Amino acid sequence: MRCLSCHKLNFATFCKTCQSNLLQPSVTQRTCGDLEVYSFFKYQNIEDLLLTKHTPQGFKLYKALAKLSFKPFIKKFMKEDNRVIYVVGIDENVKSGYAHVALLTHEMKMKNVKVEHARLMAQNKINYSGKTLQFRLENPRDFVYRGKKGVEVILVDDIVTTGTTLMEASKVLKQNRVDVLFALTLAGVEP
Ligand SMILES: [Zn+2]
Repeated sequence: MRCLSCHKLNFATFCKTCQSNLLQPSVTQRTCGDLEVYSFFKYQNIEDLLLTKHTPQGFKLYKALAKLSFKPFIKKFMKEDNRVIYVVGIDENVKSGYAHVALLTHEMKMKNVKVEHARLMAQNKINYSGKTLQFRLENPRDFVYRGKKGVEVILVDDIVTTGTTLMEASKVLKQNRVDVLFALTLAGVEP
């Protein structure tokens, strides 16, 4: 098989060179409303890779990137914490054979971290890509939450662009007596 990034022959999803040069997560933070959003990669840096999202390689890509970012993050986070935390992925519906966000949240499973899939689903499936902030605000996702109430939650999405989706999701969770700690995304588009 070949490295997904440089296409050199290699036994793992990414070769060592790409892992240490290109794919070192560096967390950036932004505030969307009253929600802190952390992104592991700059969207522009992994844009070409993310374009494979809807191909069979996209499955491997998401898994490999999640192992490099979400997994070490939650391990470190839980070291300083004894609480039970829930992880809620945004709109884990199955496209091209799998749910992208579910691959990310799956890597966060550990002691005291409960990952339950497909608990926060959008009723409005309209495509936001390339759309303006105004359009996004006028066409909300209309999330329905079917997860546990009265718990502390980390929200997860794959890409944050304007933050409208995350803010809407956070609002719906709060209406369900969920305490949203912060949001994690794989990649952030620079505003
Ligand atoms: Zn490589």
